[in-house]
Amino acid sequence: MWCKICNRETEREKCELCGNKTEQDTPLEIYWCEDCKVPNIKYSSGIDKDICPSCKRITSYLCADLRPVFPEERLLLEILQDKPLAYLNKSVWASNNRYYIDGKSVIITVKFYKKLSPDTIREQLAKYSDRNDSDFFDKNIKRFVDLNKTRLNYIIDEARSFI
Ligand SMILES: [Zn+2]
Ligand SMILES: [Zn+2]
Repeated sequence: MWCKICNRETEREKCELCGNKTEQDTPLEIYWCEDCKVPNIKYSSGIDKDICPSCKRITSYLCADLRPVFPEERLLLEILQDKPLAYLNKSVWASNNRYYIDGKSVIITVKFYKKLSPDTIREQLAKYSDRNDSDFFDKNIKRFVDLNKTRLNYIIDEARSFI
């Protein structure tokens, strides 16, 4: 059980410290490993939550939840930023209106989407799609799966509900 007011785990239905009704699931947090270039999914109560399970280095807090960005969506983002294929070999993830490119966040606003006409976007997508391969993406996802085996069902459900 989890008390979200005290940010602590407890055995009780009601937190012994503040009296708040507790929740079933301990929340998850996502940390970024700069060496492995993948997000690590951790329980927020874990004492080792900022340690990468693979390389054992200290990771930095990224966000509360996250989904993978597939190559097609990445190309769309690049076109909107006028940087086609710039992130081909980067680890790209998303959470709400925020993208994370190699751990650095970019906020996408509505204004941003309106900058180019749908025709221009379609034209650009067609122009670059041949070179938009998924080699890096596939390797990055494989590494992410290896690192996060235990908590993966959570994020796969997130991705499915998005698609
Ligand atoms: Zn409490
Ligand atoms: Zn690592």
